[in-house]
Amino acid sequence: MAVPPLIDSFGRLHDNLRLSVTDRCNIRCFYCMPEHDVRFVDRRQILDFEEIERFTRIAVSLGVSKLRVTGGEPLLRRDLPLLIRRLAAIPGVRDLALTTNGVLLPDLARALYDAGLRRLNVHLDTLDRERFRQISRRDDLERVLEGLAISRELGFRIKLNAVAVKNLVEPDIVPLACFARENGFEVRYIEFMPLDAQNLWDRRKVLLAGEVIETLSREIAPLVAVPDADPRAPATEYAYADGGGLVGFIASVSRPFCGNCNRLRLTADGKLRYCLFSIEEDDVKGLMRSGAPDECIAALIRSNLARKWEGHEINSAKFVAPPRPMYSIGG
Ligand code: SAM
Ligand code: SF4
Repeated sequence: MAVPPLIDSFGRLHDNLRLSVTDRCNIRCFYCMPEHDVRFVDRRQILDFEEIERFTRIAVSLGVSKLRVTGGEPLLRRDLPLLIRRLAAIPGVRDLALTTNGVLLPDLARALYDAGLRRLNVHLDTLDRERFRQISRRDDLERVLEGLAISRELGFRIKLNAVAVKNLVEPDIVPLACFARENGFEVRYIEFMPLDAQNLWDRRKVLLAGEVIETLSREIAPLVAVPDADPRAPATEYAYADGGGLVGFIASVSRPFCGNCNRLRLTADGKLRYCLFSIEEDDVKGLMRSGAPDECIAALIRSNLARKWEGHEINSAKFVAPPRPMYSIGG
């Protein structure tokens, strides 16, 4: 008998799963983590590879076909290439990608490629060493650039994730876009969202997608919206009119894309979330560790999705930021 697809009460089909494999990180971006005294989950509470693979197989049996591995910094997870190999081998997985800050790519890119990974999103806000240090509180820009060069050489398809923070990254917009164009990367500007650990977010600190589009169109080449881009992907894509490639905008604040959301999230400590901003979550790990059969986990996925709300309400006065910051959810 055919399994009913994962459709929520707003008619949205869910086929995309984000798997966070750790909440630890080797840098400390201010819009995600506190600078000091970060409280990480006890290692025993983190799902092991068997548990991650089991959950993924169940989700795939319900229609999930796209996976993204994230964190924290996923490359810190020991033996990550082994997990990648296992996920890539699950029948029904059509797309597997990884989001990373890139610092450990010089060491791991080859093993990840050999394990079957082909798509990387590398987080890079600036090419300026001092601003990189200011944002991430670490001096690792050279490592990230080296990791990008190695990954490109290996043949990865690469997108760059740049967080758009007002009165900070404006000088980086054009150099980063030029760097992306020269290297065949697609840069995606992500509006700063209220998911930082220190509650620094304020609407006035968001560099809006419209402003970035205006800058790039003026300074590099006119940008034209790509009409046939995947409407269910979070990024709205634009193409340079001179044929110089694509640029993406994840305009969560100025143009929320909740109406097309197709994503579920599993945190590193085994909690299922239907939204980045949800304030409730379901305990997959507890269920698995108590010996629940696959049908119970599948039922939990369906009941989680059934409670999914229409949208995140960032723009409403009743918005409440989730208790977990970005690094502990998995962006
Ligand atoms: N450590 C990896 C990284 O930085 O790419 C993966 C996890 S990180 C939480 C995933 C993405 O979230 C990053 O690429 C970054 O662009 C984005 N991000 C983090 N904090 C954010 C915030 N407050 N608003 C918008 N995007 C954010
Ligand atoms: Fe680490 Fe990524 Fe958060 Fe930056 S955005 S602190 S790299 S988890």
